[in-house]
Amino acid sequence: MRIDILTVLPELLESPFNYSIVKRARERKLVEINVINLRDFAADRYRTVDDYAFGGGAGMVMMIEPVFKAIEKLKGERVYDEIIYTSPDGEKFNQKMANQLSLKENILILSGHYKGIDQRIRDHLITREISIGDYVLSGGELPASVITDAIVRLIPGAISDEQSALSDSFQDDLLAPPVYTRPADFNGWKVPGILLSGHAANIEKWRHEQSEERTRRLRPDLFSEDKES
Ligand code: SAH
Repeated sequence: MRIDILTVLPELLESPFNYSIVKRARERKLVEINVINLRDFAADRYRTVDDYAFGGGAGMVMMIEPVFKAIEKLKGERVYDEIIYTSPDGEKFNQKMANQLSLKENILILSGHYKGIDQRIRDHLITREISIGDYVLSGGELPASVITDAIVRLIPGAISDEQSALSDSFQDDLLAPPVYTRPADFNGWKVPGILLSGHAANIEKWRHEQSEERTRRLRPDLFSEDKES
């Protein structure tokens, strides 16, 4: 799998992909992540990528040309399954979308900046618009890293124990059960006895009950959620 990210601030994307699960997945060649600087596609020597908004008003807008040139060049090199624009008004990102995207081969993510990108890019080149939540960030770099991280950890082999990703929250529309490690008794705070019983089937049943109880209490909406995929 290959994930390309277009940005005016590549520096912001240096660290998120160089640690932990994502780093290991890259090392194992399960995924290739490329960060591409939009300024390399600017037409002038100042590497300008933004301009004033037509109609006036505060804030700059990301220009069409550099984005268009960058996307056209990349599309000439491979076929993208999705060209994603990160945007507060996009589809709200969730685990189901992460699952779907983790099955793709080539994904391009365009990070916006300033007031956003010229609408014509969205109208003509973008295949999917994704928001990571109902709040506004300064740029699409953090959303692009959030989306990439959520996708990469689902690629088979990215997590050593595959079971581990499948038992995370939101897979099956359930929150994860509580987890504990040693010591079994910390100053009187005890681990539930069943986890020390060594009885695998009972432990599995207990974990499932805990998941259901947690979901009902904290996220009743997941139970009523439309199960379409
Ligand atoms: N004027 C825009 C926000 C611009 S914020 C609006 O009101 O909708 C600058 C850039 O940050 C956006 O172009 C987008 O790429 C990114 N961004 C900000 N918040 C985001 C969110 N919640 N999800 C995804 N991307 C976001």
